[in-house]
Amino acid sequence: MLIYGQKSTQLTTKALDDITCESCGATGTTDLTIYTLYFHLFWIPTFPFSKSGYSHCRNCQLTLEKGDMPLSIETTYEELKKESKSPLWSFAGILVFTALAALVFVMAERSKETDMKYLANPKKCDAYGIKTENNFYSSLWVTDISQDSIYVIQNSSRTENKSGISMIHRKENYNSEPYSIAKASLQELYETGVIISVIR
Ligand SMILES: [Zn+2]
Repeated sequence: MLIYGQKSTQLTTKALDDITCESCGATGTTDLTIYTLYFHLFWIPTFPFSKSGYSHCRNCQLTLEKGDMPLSIETTYEELKKESKSPLWSFAGILVFTALAALVFVMAERSKETDMKYLANPKKCDAYGIKTENNFYSSLWVTDISQDSIYVIQNSSRTENKSGISMIHRKENYNSEPYSIAKASLQELYETGVIISVIR
């Protein structure tokens, strides 16, 4: 399965009324076509990278690539190539990618906002995803709350991936003694990457 590669699309064609075909001698039967090559990924055009063209005689079917064109055609070829622009759709992949990146960023910002709100007002039974030593992940379970502290039990399991936190967040894994954390330090623990998520 080919998921990327290059394709070509025609940009413009111009009839060269004054040109006489060097093969059949007919005048006004030659067309000049400019095309662009574009890169595609998953069949979505991503970006154009090269323009080229050819001349074609409608009378004798003689087709000449750029290198073989007589000077009289080549001059027009260079002009036409310069003024023909790649269509917007040939950049579609870049536009889609940019939009997706922006969406991911907005969603991450929004979830951070929500987490910070929860940390400012902790509730019993909240759980916090945390990063532990050696790049493992685990969680804390809020079991009690006092005036200025929360009491948490650390999960006895750990996981290699952030996404595994919700899998190990099970009541039977919280089997050690609770300890306290100052409420005032929760947001800082989040900013410094110790607490990485809030489950509520
Ligand atoms: Zn011809």
